[in-house]
Amino acid sequence: MTENITLEMIKALPKTDLHVHLDGSIRLSTILDLADRYRIKLPANDIDGLKKAIVVDENCSSLVDYLKAFDITLQVLQTDQALERAAFELCEDAAQENVRYIEVRFAPILHTNNLMSLEEIITSVVEGLKRAEKHYNIKTGLIICGMRHFNSNVSLMSRGLKETLSTFNDKELAELLALESAKVAVKMSKKEPKIVGFDLAGAENGYPAKDFYRAFQEIISGHLSITVHAGEAYGPNSIEQAVKYCHAHRIGHGTRLIEAKHDESMPSLYNYFKDKRIPLEVCLTSNVQTKTVPSIKEHPVKKLFEDKLRLTICTDNRLVSNVTVSDEYYKLVTELDFKKEDIERLLIYGFESIFLNYEDRKSLLNEVLPEIKNILYNS
Ligand SMILES: [Zn+2]
Repeated sequence: MTENITLEMIKALPKTDLHVHLDGSIRLSTILDLADRYRIKLPANDIDGLKKAIVVDENCSSLVDYLKAFDITLQVLQTDQALERAAFELCEDAAQENVRYIEVRFAPILHTNNLMSLEEIITSVVEGLKRAEKHYNIKTGLIICGMRHFNSNVSLMSRGLKETLSTFNDKELAELLALESAKVAVKMSKKEPKIVGFDLAGAENGYPAKDFYRAFQEIISGHLSITVHAGEAYGPNSIEQAVKYCHAHRIGHGTRLIEAKHDESMPSLYNYFKDKRIPLEVCLTSNVQTKTVPSIKEHPVKKLFEDKLRLTICTDNRLVSNVTVSDEYYKLVTELDFKKEDIERLLIYGFESIFLNYEDRKSLLNEVLPEIKNILYNS
């Protein structure tokens, strides 16, 4: 019994997407087009072949395995034009399913193959977001990511850095680059309000958040908002570090917070999240693909929701995970028996969790609330 909640109804509902990676959400047709323009060799030259190479399936074994798809998408995202276009199209795709507010995130350091500066790279993405706002009924924000792991093969800039800073090991370089990204984000945010927050992304296991303490001190001092990927490939300890050392205002995934509920070594962490209303950015399908959870039905989202934690439903990667925000909500209805009131609550949580200032957040929520009620209860 789906209580007459159809996919069409969900598509019409005003939604947010607060956890979506630019480099994991590019259109396949755009990858082909950009590869052609920049003479980049891809694993396949048609949509179907490329889809097989990028979109993950049940053979994906872990988060590290999942992240391999990005080696392909990143190749074509190394110019200002490509970045502007990818950002615009991501917002365009989201707007088509009535996502009214999107926070796009990306790590500028991964786009330095042509030696563009971090500021130029970020500006290109901001321009794409602004163009989308002019064309569609969508508001946007940008989250800058630091990366937990350093990969010298990622770009000309990273290779140069590895050679120049010869006494630094990869962990130290990752920390240094996250610090630099944080400083650039703060500096640019003084003039560019589209830059709303900072995140730590990449391989979680073996790369603890506390190592990035300095970057987050910069962000806190610069009064930007903070989200941290945690509790995906590692347990509640990782989530605790994100709060303790990085002062996270939201958690990316946070799936394994459920393990803290009955863990006697950290009895208060679960309730801390509930009491402080710290949102978890829930990405259902991505969690199944990275083997964080065995299936949608076994995802802790239902328990977390029943315990009244603040959750916001997100895509993670529209391309790599082959999802939309509407798909994710629909899975809650069909697989986990979420009702209309539950969907309404989750949509409101989404708008309450965005990294805009209080007035803008409130006015956006006031704008969409009557629409949500009308679609859910009068159609
Ligand atoms: Zn993510």
